[in-house]
Amino acid sequence: MPIYEFRCHKCGHRFEKLCPMGETGKKMQCPDCSAPAPNRVMSGFCATGADGDSGGGSGCGPCSASSCGSCGH
Ligand SMILES: [Zn+2]
Repeated sequence: MPIYEFRCHKCGHRFEKLCPMGETGKKMQCPDCSAPAPNRVMSGFCATGADGDSGGGSGCGPCSASSCGSCGH
């Protein structure tokens, strides 16, 4: 299973978790403040097309992620 990085939208806490492929964090909670659905952050490794989020692969330059929700680009 891949390790995904998440960031709480409420308190800004960042944490990593081993998740099943395709985990989006919607069903998770922040370990710090228990806010639901932390944002998933794309970290170092490349998982283009593997997470099944949006496919495509055109992505954005700065973060090379298939979804720009993480870098705000
Ligand atoms: Zn939090």
